[in-house]
Order: sequence, then C-alpha cells, then structure tokens
Amino acid sequence: MLSNVKVVLVGTSHSGNIGSAARAMKVMGLSNMTLVAPACEVDGQAVALAAGASEIALNAQVVATLDEAVKECSLVIGSSARSRTLDWPMLEPRECGEKCAVETQAGQVAIVFGRERTGLTNEELQLCHYHVCIPANPEYSSLNLAMAVQTIAYEIRVAHLEKQKQDYAPQAPEAYPRHEELEMFFEHLEKVMMDTQFIAVDQPNKVMNKLRRLFSRARPEQQELNILRGVLTAIEKKIGSR
Ligand code: SAH
Repeated sequence: MLSNVKVVLVGTSHSGNIGSAARAMKVMGLSNMTLVAPACEVDGQAVALAAGASEIALNAQVVATLDEAVKECSLVIGSSARSRTLDWPMLEPRECGEKCAVETQAGQVAIVFGRERTGLTNEELQLCHYHVCIPANPEYSSLNLAMAVQTIAYEIRVAHLEKQKQDYAPQAPEAYPRHEELEMFFEHLEKVMMDTQFIAVDQPNKVMNKLRRLFSRARPEQQELNILRGVLTAIEKKIGSR
C-alpha cells in the first residue's frame, strides 16, 4: 500500500532538500517522489544528502504543474504550516497517516509539500482535499522541508503498520473471564478472607469493595483468574476449611 503514496514536492529550490526528503521517505518505506517545477537539479548535493536513497530522487517524476502531478490521485493532502488561517478541512498528522493507510487500498494518495521560502500558494492549497499541519511551536512553526516530509511519512508508516497488525491479527482467544466467573472469584476470596480471619465475618464490605475495585482496574485475564482461584484453594486446603 505504501507504493500508492506519492510525495509531491512543489518548486523546491535546494537540491539538498530533495535528497534529504528522499532519505526521509525511504526509511519510512515510501518510494514515489514527484517534483513539480523544481527550481534546482537533482545534483551531487541531492545524491549526497539522500545517502542510500538517491534512487528515489534520481527516479523522481518531474512535471510542470501540481494538477499534472496529482491527476491520478483520489486523495490529495497539502502540507502547510499556515493552513490554520485558511478555512479548509484540516487533518492532524496522525489522522493524515490513518487516512493514507485506508485510502491507499483503493487508489493513489498524494501528500504535497511547498517551497522552502513561500510554501504552497492558495491556488495549490485549494487543489487539495485536506490540509495537514504539524502542530509545531506557534512562534516558530515552519519545519525544514525534508523534516516535514519525515514527520508525515512517519505517521503514514505507523498507521500502515497498525493497519497491517489489525488485518492479520488472529482471532483473539477468549482472554477475559465472564462476569459470573469473576463473581465466583470474589465470593471465594471473601470466604478465604473470613476463614483466615483476615476480615471479620460481620464486616466484610469495606475491604471487599476495595478489592473489587482493584480487580476491576487490573482486569485479570482468564488464566490469571484461574491462578488466583488456585491460590485460594491452596490456602483453604492448608487451613483445613475445605
Ligand atoms: N515559509 C513557508 C514554509 C515553507 S517550509 C510557509 O509559510 O509556508 C516548506 C514546506 O514544508 C511547507 O510548504 C510545508 O509543505 C512543509 N511544512 C513546514 N512546516 C510545516 C508544518 N508545521 N506543518 C505542515 N507542513 C509543514
């Protein structure tokens, strides 16, 4: 599914940023880069900063307009530090990752990043279905281009891994005891506490309520409850109350 994510860099002016963005993509499993009217070449500086990911920058598709870059994408998300001032549907980076993980199953998704100095124009932002804003320091909210790519790519990867886990999770075994089993445990516990004279026969409620609260919070699994029942039975055997 990650191959259905397209990272679109608009009007990039520093080739090093293209290389760094390629590296940021590759570490997160993305490989599809498109450059819209770049103001620099994919040169030695780009290759140097891409480290082992230069093929992504060297194979980047180069197009003249954003329209052309996203024409086959069914979801287009524009990344902008300034979007909060525009009235447009907004996504948190995490939601952006989750949307990508879902929608890449059906089609291509583009994440669009702007120019280093001026970001994306309003016209470009209006080509996007959503805007994603990294909630940075409001007094200094503009990330370096490649670092913005890194942040969004990370969220896409996390959401993708989470989705995979859900899709391939085996049927969960019945892990938790039923209500009546828990009640039987509480009865058993109360009996043993009385048999051992830990609590007085006529005053059980206060301690039992606290213990109920403890076990509700801990939410023991079936196996754990079986162990606890076993401990109580062992105590009963030892004190001869069983
Ligand atoms: N001065 C520009 C900042 C450009 S930074 C501006 O005001 O828009 C280059 C690109 O990195 C931006 O166009 C955007 O795509 C991305 N970026 C930087 N900081 C970001 C943030 N906080 N949230 C989302 N994207 C961000």
